[in-house]
Amino acid sequence: MTTRTMELSAAIIPNKPMQPFWAVIDEIQSEAPSVSTFWLRFLDPGLQAGFRFQPGQFNMLLVPGVGESAISISSSAEDNKRVGHTIRFVGNVTTAISRLKVGDVLGVRGPFGTSWPIEKHVGQDIMIAAGGIGLPPLRTVIYHIINHRSDYGRVVVLYGARTPQDLQFTREYKEWEKAGIEVVVTVDRADDKWEGPVGVVPLLFYRLRMDPRKTVIFSCGPEIMLRFVVFEALARRISSDRIYISMERNMKCGQGFCGHCQMGPYFVCKDGPVFTYAQLEPYFNVEDI
Ligand SMILES: Cc1cc2nc3c(=O)[nH]c(=O)nc-3n(C[C@H](O)[C@H](O)[C@H](O)COP(=O)(O)OP(=O)(O)OC[C@H]3O[C@@H](n4cnc5c(N)ncnc54)[C@H](O)[C@@H]3O)c2cc1C
Repeated sequence: MTTRTMELSAAIIPNKPMQPFWAVIDEIQSEAPSVSTFWLRFLDPGLQAGFRFQPGQFNMLLVPGVGESAISISSSAEDNKRVGHTIRFVGNVTTAISRLKVGDVLGVRGPFGTSWPIEKHVGQDIMIAAGGIGLPPLRTVIYHIINHRSDYGRVVVLYGARTPQDLQFTREYKEWEKAGIEVVVTVDRADDKWEGPVGVVPLLFYRLRMDPRKTVIFSCGPEIMLRFVVFEALARRISSDRIYISMERNMKCGQGFCGHCQMGPYFVCKDGPVFTYAQLEPYFNVEDI
């Protein structure tokens, strides 16, 4: 965790990382089948006004009587009126969240974890490679780039989903393109209307030329996709300390106490979720680690 992240986390929950704070659901936006964005506002207006996070960080969302899940923040870090979380309904907690309505409350602990080091790479080309529910934590980077567009060179978003219906945030792609971001979207299975590429995200690398000296990769998605993104990036001589990946391992405490999310010497909740490939390389291809 960077010093800045620690300062920001401390701003919301001083010495109480295990205590949830209550937030009301302000709006629910459907993104795709079984995926919605929940816009939360802390019940305490002071807490809401002081809530700060970095792109790529996550909150632990608590449904009383059910449990907690790690969910990335998907809204702009520069908008502190409310906080967006884009959730795929897969198991106990997320299904319980799917049943909630506007006006219901959730417990929130956070923000936790490391962030995409976007400010470190000012002046460089940014390549974002996301699959499925890996796009929400990267949308915060896209918003940052839009707000500071002249700070970056070429910016490309490569995004893939199973089918056209599963693509998230489709209403925003035009806005991203207007800001000078190239958006290339692929699906595993096309339908009659689909005119874009078909295939997995790493294949999109073959459509682009990139300068390895000034390109940085930010990637989040299924682990199998991350492996091939890393492979394609290394094949283009992008060095392992310029490839950033977010690992979404199952976690419980979010504080490095319980060990649920351990990967080699790292606790994904505390030392990640964003790592450089240089950090993870020794553990990345080890099964069951
Ligand atoms: C840092 C981090 C950030 C994350 N950000 C997000 C995010 O922004 N959005 C998001 O949606 N998720 C995110 N996740 C993933 C999310 O935390 C997990 O999916 C979490 O396990 C969901 O909690 P749950 O109780 O609903 O699922 P669990 O009950 O814990 O289920 C966990 C696993 O079991 C599988 N499973 C559960 N029930 C069934 C079933 N009936 N049939 C088949 N498979 C099943 C699920 O596919 C899942 O893989 C993130 C995870 C991490 C670590």
